[in-house]
Amino acid sequence: MTKAERWQAFQESQGELKLRPKVHSFAQAMEAKLQFNDHRGGWDDADINVIIRLLLGEVTELLQAIQQEGPEEVLYEAADVANYALIAADIMRGLTGENGRH
Ligand SMILES: [Mg+2]
Repeated sequence: MTKAERWQAFQESQGELKLRPKVHSFAQAMEAKLQFNDHRGGWDDADINVIIRLLLGEVTELLQAIQQEGPEEVLYEAADVANYALIAADIMRGLTGENGRH
């Protein structure tokens, strides 16, 4: 059984997941950033290679925020990193939901 298959089996065994408070709070920051950038349009036609380059750029911004800025800026950039990871997973059909495979 692959790592992904073991993870999927674990997820299926858990039923409806209850988010930890910090995961919920971080997910809200992600959603806020997505809505802030809604005017740019969606990512349905995005190229995975472009998204990965943008993700790496956001990791650099996160490192700069950690080194030079405060907790709000760190959260702002961490949400960007997570959102590009989300977009990559969605493009590769890893997510459930209206565009997902499940
Ligand atoms: Mg950023």
